[in-house]
Amino acid sequence: MTTVAAYAAPAAKAPLERTTIERRPVGEFDVLIDIKFAGICHSDIHQVREGWGTAIFPMVPGHEIAGVVSEVGPGVTKYKVGDRAGVGCFVDSCRECDHCKAGQEQYCTGGMIQTYNYLDKDGQPTYGGYSEKIVVDENYTVRIPDGLALNSAAPLLCAGITLYSPLKHWGAGPGKKVAIVGLGGLGHMGVKIAHALGAEVTVLSQSLRKKDDGLKLGADHYYATSDPKTFEELAGTFDLIVSTVSAPLDFSGYVNLLKIDGALVNVGAPEEPISVNVFPLIMGRRSIAGSAIGGIAETQEMLDFCAEHGFGAEIEVIAASEINEAYERVLNSDVRYRFVIDTATI
Ligand code: NAP
Ligand code: ZN
Ligand code: ZN
Repeated sequence: MTTVAAYAAPAAKAPLERTTIERRPVGEFDVLIDIKFAGICHSDIHQVREGWGTAIFPMVPGHEIAGVVSEVGPGVTKYKVGDRAGVGCFVDSCRECDHCKAGQEQYCTGGMIQTYNYLDKDGQPTYGGYSEKIVVDENYTVRIPDGLALNSAAPLLCAGITLYSPLKHWGAGPGKKVAIVGLGGLGHMGVKIAHALGAEVTVLSQSLRKKDDGLKLGADHYYATSDPKTFEELAGTFDLIVSTVSAPLDFSGYVNLLKIDGALVNVGAPEEPISVNVFPLIMGRRSIAGSAIGGIAETQEMLDFCAEHGFGAEIEVIAASEINEAYERVLNSDVRYRFVIDTATI
């Protein structure tokens, strides 16, 4: 076992504070990663506050992990010491179900082992990226391409893949009109990726406060959802809408913005149910769907895609002592566009 410094919430809703945790010895197929940067995802905040139900404490959040391999087990083939590696939202899965075999470990029917707030196969709680080091099976890691800086690559491990996967699945590309609801951590990656895929991109944000940024990120259009005229003007416009909103939103008005047969894909994970008026769904054969992160192979594909197109996330690098303040800013939609912890400050 190795003792490493970490930032943890000792109890639900408690501020995060410095502590130490134990990492398991490096096994045959494991890599030890010296974590350099860890992104702050809104999911970290939902879980620290027990917004999704009972959680495991102390909790070390963080599932947007970028670092450098510092030790490899004897069976490791993918890495050598010094390689750049990333870890996302899960660190293991059953490896036997149809989804695992298809490279869609995020839909593992045996249950993927989440990077934190979960019990590992040995029954021990998992601890996430707000820490100095992590030990992970090499099959549950991805390579960070040389073209990407580690700090702006970290958020790709959750925010990036969570948007890349549905944008690909629902065919975002040339000739398609795509709207992204919410310009936060996930949303800003959605704009960059949908634009790079060749789609015509519209941001639907609560206000026009971030319009200049949205257009610079690659959006073609930007509308405020606080303005009722937006919903009149854009009725029947989109092939695909991806909602990244962290709060419960009434989807009725948004469904009406879809073309016939269009899809509203929700990736936001609010703590309360979402409501929708069924008539715009029925009358337009429209669908509402959901999507969770992405598998390891698709996460690697997304990283390579971002490197090829020359972008990572827009980030604000913070010291570990600023985590609690950053949480408040995320809750106030005051993030531009992802906080990333410099783990050297833990
Ligand atoms: P974030 O950075 O806080 O962004 C969320 C954005 O939603 C905000 O920036 C804001 O955008 C908008 N928003 C917030 N409150 C709103 C409200 N009351 N009404 C309308 N819009 C509102 O959060 P994030 O890290 O991107 O995560 C977003 C959600 O996705 C969270 O619930 C998170 O848990 C979930 N998530 C899901 C997956 C998955 O696999 N499906 C993966 C990661 C995260 P504007 O200021 O532009 O309006
Ligand atoms: Zn996340
Ligand atoms: Zn499985």
